[in-house]
Amino acid sequence: MKTVNGYEIIQLFESFSPKKYAMEGDPIGLQIGKLNKPIKNVMIALDILDEVVDEAIEKNVQLIIAHHPLIFRPLKNLLTDQAQGKIIEKLIKHDIAVYAAHTNLDVAIGGVNDLLAEALQLQNTEVLDPTYEDKLKKLVVYVPVDYEEEVRNAIGKAGAGAIGQYSHCSFSSEGTGRFLPSEHSSPFIGAKGKLESVKENKIETIIPASIEKRVITAMIKAHPYEEVAYDIYPLENKGQVLGLGRIGMLNEEMSLEQFAEHVKKTLEVNTVRVVGDLHARINKVAVLGGDGNKYFSKAKFKGADVFVTGDFYYHNAHDAMQMGLNIIDPGHNVEKVMKKGVAERLSKMCKDKGYSVQFIPSTIHTDPFTFESIS
Ligand SMILES: [Zn+2]
Repeated sequence: MKTVNGYEIIQLFESFSPKKYAMEGDPIGLQIGKLNKPIKNVMIALDILDEVVDEAIEKNVQLIIAHHPLIFRPLKNLLTDQAQGKIIEKLIKHDIAVYAAHTNLDVAIGGVNDLLAEALQLQNTEVLDPTYEDKLKKLVVYVPVDYEEEVRNAIGKAGAGAIGQYSHCSFSSEGTGRFLPSEHSSPFIGAKGKLESVKENKIETIIPASIEKRVITAMIKAHPYEEVAYDIYPLENKGQVLGLGRIGMLNEEMSLEQFAEHVKKTLEVNTVRVVGDLHARINKVAVLGGDGNKYFSKAKFKGADVFVTGDFYYHNAHDAMQMGLNIIDPGHNVEKVMKKGVAERLSKMCKDKGYSVQFIPSTIHTDPFTFESIS
């Protein structure tokens, strides 16, 4: 097992939740400390409160990856006898770095919204509000016949040739490759100064622009030639659409009342706020982690029977009611699904890389709200 530094961990994290997915002006990325240090334990947190920092200190954590940025607005001062300053001082004293992944993790495939949709057991989910298109590119590579399968497998494993529910899609044709190795070359086939022609196959496939680097690296690693001949061209095909929120179907129809119970159970909350008729039939569900006030019309437009989101406003609830859209507000804190989801994903990625590092979901409950009823 290899020791790992913060850069290596963040590189893996950003391979599925890159910064470019974030909404404009969202303060994401490294906020406190440094990444250039060995990391043994990483804590995954929804919010960074004083108690969360204490937990990180107790568990010997060197890096916290948090969904909600600790520094959301630019600081005018840093007063260490006030809450935020005290937290930052404590983090720096204990050399704990903080990295924030906010709207980029909402948008990411397998990010907060996918984790919520998965927890609610939604089927055939789509993006609710598209914010980003991952453009497609064509990759063409020329390979000596005996190495074709190896190169095809390597690029397929790196994600090339994914079309809908199919992966490893490619097309091959046979031909002849020609080259003249120079005096300074060390050719895999042929000899210096002698024009060579070799039976080669041409592999064609498509790649989303976001994974281009990864696919090219895998291709070059699997290819036997000193200089690999390949072409990349932009495509006009529609790329993969990413965005905020998800919309999908329930496995079986239920009433709004039953669905509210389902939400409580699957998202682990004691209470939810409900707008709508408890007997309404629910099949199609839209979900958006955090504050989804801006998206309820979109949920209605896309045919949702119910919209699950947090921080829902009184007047928006009236508007939703008037347009016949049911609302379930389980609170903003249900985004806590990201703690376990991100920890499990990064653990697996690091294990595959042979990195010796632990990912710890914070156990501190950070929901500021409780509900009291008169008994
Ligand atoms: Zn949030």
